[in-house]
Amino acid sequence: MIPRMETRVMEVDPLEDCRSVYKEAAGVLAEGGLVAIPTETVYGLGADALNTEAVANVFAVKARPSFDPLICHFAKAKDIKDYTEVPAELQPLVDKLAKEFWPGPMTLVLPRKPIIPDIVTSGLPTVACRVPSHEVMRGVARALEHPIAAPSANRFGHISPTSAQAVVKELGGSIPLVLDAGACSEGLESTILMPCLDEKGKPAVRLLREGPVTREKLRGICRVLKPGKGKAAEEVLPNAPGQLKSHYAPAKPLILWNPREEFTPEEGVSYGLISYEGESALAQQECWTEVMPLSPGSGRLAEAAVRLFAVMRAMDENDEVQVIVAEELPETGLGCAMMDRLRRAAAKREEA
Ligand code: AMP
Ligand code: MG
Repeated sequence: MIPRMETRVMEVDPLEDCRSVYKEAAGVLAEGGLVAIPTETVYGLGADALNTEAVANVFAVKARPSFDPLICHFAKAKDIKDYTEVPAELQPLVDKLAKEFWPGPMTLVLPRKPIIPDIVTSGLPTVACRVPSHEVMRGVARALEHPIAAPSANRFGHISPTSAQAVVKELGGSIPLVLDAGACSEGLESTILMPCLDEKGKPAVRLLREGPVTREKLRGICRVLKPGKGKAAEEVLPNAPGQLKSHYAPAKPLILWNPREEFTPEEGVSYGLISYEGESALAQQECWTEVMPLSPGSGRLAEAAVRLFAVMRAMDENDEVQVIVAEELPETGLGCAMMDRLRRAAAKREEA
């Protein structure tokens, strides 16, 4: 049983001097407590990555299976070398990726040093590392002087929270502190890459999770391999739910729909449509109890990405809606990561 406690929400404005807030949050973490901390992707449920009990508590509070490893967040890219052992042949690529995308929404899976506890990595020989661009997560990591292990601050399998209010709905009463810096600017979880050698022995990355650092952005830098390709793929990949078919799911059934097809509603069921622009032929049909566009009128993928989880949550909480229908999005750039999340949300229904 998780002990019930009062959850304090502290507002923090990264444009002001926040050192006292960072210090206070770091104090909670240093004592083994958990703090929900904003990043540019989603809100994370942070623990001191070197404190095994605190990390165990992250798994307990989220009801997350222990075979799903956590991402460690660092204040500076330079700090990562104390925790990882990057092979010499991959170092130039790691440096290049770090220079290009950190601080930012990219996670690199790297061979770890023993200082990282097994519980963080689910016993894997690698650790997932990120330097977020959000000032608050980096500020707290700087004040703690340890990496912060932080999965998304939601119960396992649920929609990731992109606001402090969503965190409180998910975890209120089971964690002591939430730092509230408003809505996340990216809104989708980080891109996860594992640097590796390709079949010809050339440095490449395996794309483990699509995210804001898109294939297009990576293309000029190195080859992007699918999971399972390249040398020594199998033994270092976790059986992680972030890669499971069903994940990121609302409580209600979600169906994916191609906007060019006619939608045939079932008698007596009320449907809510998550539309891309709100103007497609699908959105014009009259069978919807609610239509929520992701990028009203303009069809901008970046705007849609920021709103996706908040809109999924709003549909889930709308008592008038029984089934959520999501319009398929164009699969270019950020659309790939969004379709990845929507497919996993829809997979819950297929499996049920
Ligand atoms: P999140 O749930 O957003 O915190 O993301 C955690 C995900 O990162 C996991 O579900 C895995 O997919 C991935 N991950 C973390 N650590 C590793 C690792 N050592 N090797 C491969 N993937 C990892
Ligand atoms: Mg998650």
